[in-house]
Amino acid sequence: MKFKALLSSKTNDRVSTELVEFDEADLMDGDVLVQVDYSTLNYKDALALTNERPVIQKFPLIPGIDLSGVVLESSNAGFKAGDRVVLNGWDLSMGHHGGLAQRARVRGEWLNKIPGNLTTRDAMAIGTAGYTAMLCVLALEDAGVTPEKGDVLVTGANGGVGSIAVAILSKLGYRVVAATGRPEHSEYLHTLGAAEIIDRAELSEPRKKPISAERWAGVVDVAGGPTLVNALAETKYRGAVAACGLAQSDALHGSVLPFILRSVTLAGVDSVNAPQDVRQRAWDRLATDLDPQKLESTVQLIGLAEVLDVYEQIIPGKVRGRIVVDVNA
Ligand code: NDP
Repeated sequence: MKFKALLSSKTNDRVSTELVEFDEADLMDGDVLVQVDYSTLNYKDALALTNERPVIQKFPLIPGIDLSGVVLESSNAGFKAGDRVVLNGWDLSMGHHGGLAQRARVRGEWLNKIPGNLTTRDAMAIGTAGYTAMLCVLALEDAGVTPEKGDVLVTGANGGVGSIAVAILSKLGYRVVAATGRPEHSEYLHTLGAAEIIDRAELSEPRKKPISAERWAGVVDVAGGPTLVNALAETKYRGAVAACGLAQSDALHGSVLPFILRSVTLAGVDSVNAPQDVRQRAWDRLATDLDPQKLESTVQLIGLAEVLDVYEQIIPGKVRGRIVVDVNA
C-alpha cells in the first residue's frame, strides 16, 4: 500500500525534502503499525530539515520527531488495533522513519497511549514541545518549587515549549513572568496566563556580577547561553531552573555561586530518551493540567506539503506557539 510522506535526502552535504508516495513495504522494522493522524514541527525538526545540526543520521529518511494516530496492526502485547497513541522522540527522524507521513511502523516500547480526553490532534498540539514543557514543570516540582515561593520565569515564551509552559504553570497557580523578544505578542502571552512580560534582552547579555538580586522561585529555560547564566544568577534561595534548550546558545559560561550560596538546583531536561514511566507521568499530567482552550490558542494547523514552506521560519523565531501538521490534509 502507498501513502503520502515527506522524504529527506542528502546530496553533497545538502539536505533536501520532498513530498513523495511511499510504499508501506519500505517502512523500517517495528512491531506496531500506526495510521498517523497528526505530526508537528518542533525546533529539532527545523534543525533536521535545514541541516543546521546533523539530526538525521540515515538517508533517505522520513523526518518528523512526533506523531499521533491509531494503531492499525500490532504484535506488541501492550498495544492493539484501535489504540490511540502518541510518540515523541526516541529514534524518530534520526535513524528511524518519522512522523511526517500517513503511516509509521515503530517499536511499541516507544509509544504511549493518549490519556484522558485528549484527541490525537491535542496530542500533537502538545507534541514534543509541550511534553518537554511538562517535564520542566515536573523538574521544578521535584526540586520543591511551589506557587507560594514566588514568580516563575519562562524564557522563549512565544515558542512551543515556552507557550505551553506558560499555560501549564498559570493553571497550576504560579505567577508567570514571560521573557520574549516579540513583545508584539504580549496579548497572546497574557491569554495563556502570563502575569508579566519582560524583554528577553534583559537576560541575553553576559554580566560582570556572578549573582544578582533574587527574583525567581523557578525558571523554565529554552535559551541556554547568557540567558540561562543570568536566570541562575537571579534565582532565589533553594529555587530551581529547568534547562531544556539552546535557542540562544549551547554555551554555559557562568559561576557556581548560585549553587553554593543559594542552593539553586539546575535540572537538565531531555525528552528524547526519557524513560517510559517519566513520559507517562508527563502525559497524564498534561491531560489534567493544561487548559484545552489555551492549548488550542497556540495551534497553527498546516497540511503535509505546507511543511516545506514553513520549516525555515522556525530557527529565526518567526513562528508562534505550536505548528500541528494534519498529514491527511
Ligand atoms: P520554538 O522555535 O518554538 O521556540 C523557540 C523560542 O526561543 C523562540 O520563539 C524565541 O521566543 C526564543 N528564542 C529564539 N532565539 C532566542 C535567543 N537568541 N535568545 C533567547 N530566546 C530566543 O522552539 P521550541 O519551543 O520547540 O524549542 C525551544 C528550545 O528547546 C530549542 O532549543 C529546542 O532545541 C529545545 N528543546 C529541547 C528538548 C529536549 O528534549 N531537551 C525538547 C524540545 C525542545 P520569543 O520569540 O518569545 O523570544
